[in-house]
Amino acid sequence: MKYKIAFKTLGCRLNQYETEALASQFHREGYKVVEFNDKADVYVVNTCTVTNQSDKKSRKIIQSASTGNNNSVLVVTGCMTNNHESELNNNNQITYLVKNEHKNSIYSIVNAHFQGEIFSQEVLNQNLFNYQPTEQIFHTRSMIKIQDGCDNMCSFCIIPMVRGRAVSRPVNDVLENISRNIKKGYKEITLTGVNISRYMYGNIDFTELVEKILKLPGDFRVRFSSMEPDGLDDRFIDLFQNPKLCHHLHLCLQNGSDKVLLRMRRMYTTDSYYELINKIKSKYPDFNFTTDIMVGFPGETDEDFNQTCDMVKKIGFSHIHTFKYSVRNNTRAARMADQISEKVKDERSKIIRKISDSNKQNYYKSFIGKSQIVIPEKTNKNGFTKGYGENYIPVKIKSGSCLTNEYQSVKIIGIDSNERVLLGEICN
Ligand code: SF4
Repeated sequence: MKYKIAFKTLGCRLNQYETEALASQFHREGYKVVEFNDKADVYVVNTCTVTNQSDKKSRKIIQSASTGNNNSVLVVTGCMTNNHESELNNNNQITYLVKNEHKNSIYSIVNAHFQGEIFSQEVLNQNLFNYQPTEQIFHTRSMIKIQDGCDNMCSFCIIPMVRGRAVSRPVNDVLENISRNIKKGYKEITLTGVNISRYMYGNIDFTELVEKILKLPGDFRVRFSSMEPDGLDDRFIDLFQNPKLCHHLHLCLQNGSDKVLLRMRRMYTTDSYYELINKIKSKYPDFNFTTDIMVGFPGETDEDFNQTCDMVKKIGFSHIHTFKYSVRNNTRAARMADQISEKVKDERSKIIRKISDSNKQNYYKSFIGKSQIVIPEKTNKNGFTKGYGENYIPVKIKSGSCLTNEYQSVKIIGIDSNERVLLGEICN
């Protein structure tokens, strides 16, 4: 019998990568991967716990997964299982609670379940990288996990507690995984992890790893998932001269006030952040910068917030992922006295989102008349195909038939403001 399995992922790119790798493994083993709303034999919820909002969403999805099919298996994994283990252990709807460090064994656990075997999680090795190669199930882009965990201990962040200390994947393992995916026909590789710029295996650092990746034979391009802005030197900036490396960085800023950055225990100042951006912009003027901004960190005054607004306008981030600070137990910031009200956090979020929208319009406009190399992903019913250009801007291709997962040179002819995408046509 062919079992049906459905996945739901919350949170970061790393979680998405891990879900993709799991789905690929189940697919190869004969399972049918279906939509999460469909009837399935197994539901896997890959949770996130970075904010209260993430916990709330994760709980809601866990609840929705287990209604309507009493015989289905519900596997809950991800950061919330590490952060709220006892709460989830008491949830009778959950068949298996699998912590992050055992996530890559979910296939073995589910398989044992259907064989009627009892599988003890105690015997599982903790291997953070032992995921099977991904297949094109959810995306035409292939994500590769190069690193896990974080040593930074930012005062607001729970990640070091739920993902552990920083660990880097062996260089040969990374290169081998990427080569395999290039041979399978992937045209775009995204390097992912919790803090990828801190990659260090033996004496190979992140820049050297990327150099090695770019030297691999084949027709592919590389981009990075979100990164911390510290420790990125001129060697790193020079990497972008290689046409295989996409001109986009998601550099987490979090706040534009040095006072707040210090209390957050971030590893950079606004000056060093500006310096990095300016160096990159001076070499590659169309470079796309996106970022994360946290509003309402304890003690954030109106003046601090205004500094953040000025900075995000000046840099012109084309997208700002805005989120409200929320208390995470056992973090330093949770013990800070001057917590900010939800009302103020909401107002500040709104303002940042507005700036983000206006920045996006301006950045997108600057591409009209230029061309982008797009990898088309999906064609909709109306005959439009969407994909991403090398600067990680979504492009909707107006006419002409184009092959998915192939490079297409596209001339940008306008903006579709409703869908917030660029409009393009295939260059002949
Ligand atoms: S760098 Fe800071 S915010 Fe990012 S994962 Fe590490 S501790 Fe958390």
